[in-house]
Amino acid sequence: MESTLRRTWADVNLDAIAHNYNVIRQKIGSDVKFLGVVKADAYGHGSIQVGKTLQELGADYLAVSSADEAIELRVNGITMPILILGHTPKEQVGRLIEYNITQAITCKAKADEYSAEAVRCGGTLKVHIKVDTGMSRLGYLCDNTNFETGVNGISEACMMPGLDAEGIFTHFAVADEFGEECDNYTKHQFDLFTRVIKAVEDRLGHKFKLRHCANTGATARFPETYLDMVRPGLLLYGYGEFAREMGLKPVMTLKTTVSTIKIYPAGTAISYGGTFVTDSTTRIGVLPYGYADGFLRSLSNNCSLYTKEGPAKLRGKICMDMCMIDITDMPTVDVGSEVEIFGEKNSIDEIAENAGTIPYELTCAVSKRVPRVYYKKGEVVERELMLRM
Ligand SMILES: *Cc1c(COP(=O)(O)O)cnc(C)c1O
Repeated sequence: MESTLRRTWADVNLDAIAHNYNVIRQKIGSDVKFLGVVKADAYGHGSIQVGKTLQELGADYLAVSSADEAIELRVNGITMPILILGHTPKEQVGRLIEYNITQAITCKAKADEYSAEAVRCGGTLKVHIKVDTGMSRLGYLCDNTNFETGVNGISEACMMPGLDAEGIFTHFAVADEFGEECDNYTKHQFDLFTRVIKAVEDRLGHKFKLRHCANTGATARFPETYLDMVRPGLLLYGYGEFAREMGLKPVMTLKTTVSTIKIYPAGTAISYGGTFVTDSTTRIGVLPYGYADGFLRSLSNNCSLYTKEGPAKLRGKICMDMCMIDITDMPTVDVGSEVEIFGEKNSIDEIAENAGTIPYELTCAVSKRVPRVYYKKGEVVERELMLRM
């Protein structure tokens, strides 16, 4: 592990998780519960370490996308409630019960098979019912003419043997986008969600313990949608404009090192395809960071990485294992110098924008050969290399 450091690595600042959690907590108030979304290995940050940090901070729930992700947390010491947002094959129901993991119910067919399987196992599966209010992905369809069918289906699921419907939730499609049309769409989704909840609760004669819908956009912008619990992901990791406005800190700083320096005359074509040609004597640094580490190739010739002398432009196509930066006017940048790809100094939001994507994709893309180094109170608390050795 030590030997791979100073190639390319990700510093994960768990104090930034704590800071961000505390700021969001302050904003939502003490009556609202906090679910931290740690799916996809906590957006590439490491779900075990982020999960443990949230558990210590007193967060109420975690969410992941699959049974494997949930069980990984359980076998690594996470005891707090965990919700699986996505698809779980019915064969896994016994394990979910054994590990006390909550499952989303996304349609009538899933309710039927989870109920039957839970009964067969002789246990009770804790579930949250997903309502499709306009995301058009998972959940009971409840819009317009589907309202009655939706409410019937949800009520039925809540009464099925083997299922304990602890919660109900929906997901917003455009809560993080601006403009009246988007705001109205979110309002419509929320209004429909609350009408569905009321109809189901009237039918059942009791209330859901956990009603939740606020993702990052809604947590930042729409306090009226908090209900019993908020469910942010990106905000917790400190990226995006809402994080900036709230004074949150980026959790990951991705770094690499200058491995080789070359000086080329004018007219030299750099890298595959020769898409960048030097127009004068040019000093180029080769970095051991390529698309196999998670660098998006669409950023070729289209972003700057941050050296100790400031931003250095990326030159030529990004390769599988390497890329090149222009350090012509940066004499102190030498072989072995650290370069920040994104993080504290080089905003991931700008790089994502250049790539025509969102910061989520960039942190999720950081591949398993990039070691994660976890910091707490300024000290390294764990180094993790995800290769098997
Ligand atoms: C990923 C996800 C979230 C978190 O979204 P952010 O935009 O990162 O806050 C919340 N709810 C569901 C259902 C999700 O899939």
